[in-house]
Amino acid sequence: MAERPIGSENQPARYGAGLLKGLAVTWRNLTRRSVTAQYPDVRPELPPRSRGVIALQEENCTVCMLCARECPAWCIYIDSHKETTPATTEGGRDRSHNVLDAFDIDFSLCMYCSICIEVCPFDALHWTPEFEYAEFDIRDLTHDKDRLREWMWTVPPPPALDHHAEAAKELEVTRRAVQDDT
Ligand code: SF4
Ligand code: SF4
Repeated sequence: MAERPIGSENQPARYGAGLLKGLAVTWRNLTRRSVTAQYPDVRPELPPRSRGVIALQEENCTVCMLCARECPAWCIYIDSHKETTPATTEGGRDRSHNVLDAFDIDFSLCMYCSICIEVCPFDALHWTPEFEYAEFDIRDLTHDKDRLREWMWTVPPPPALDHHAEAAKELEVTRRAVQDDT
């Protein structure tokens, strides 16, 4: 039996149709406005909640270790020591508190899952949209506490409050306390 030319049962093959279709696509894209991102000449405008890098507000950290324990990649390394403050009143007790010695995050292991930021009870960790911290040496992707603190300057401000939202209970309590004093 003789072989059928390419095409359906009833339609004869249209030679060159594919070529014309391809040229039409090329022409359509030639006349369309380019959407190529001109990075690094033009930096992209990322949403404020982008997960770029983690910043540390050292003063807020109480070395509770929650973030390090919950991190699924085990890439947060914390070291601290205890310091004792003598009692200020006679018969009072000395108080001890943790002092942060080291706080490192290894971004070569980090999965950007945000668990550490969500579990931190003291708002010591924050996302910033900065993403330009690629390194030639993988060891440089471990950021120590000084470097993590530097990222704090790039943390975007919190979103504006909703005008129609209920006022916080604490505000009302403070307002009443001020009124009672005056
Ligand atoms: S974002 Fe996730 S993986 Fe990265 S340091 Fe935090 S908890 Fe660990
Ligand atoms: S969870 Fe927050 S306060 Fe606790 S060690 Fe981590 S950064 Fe510090």
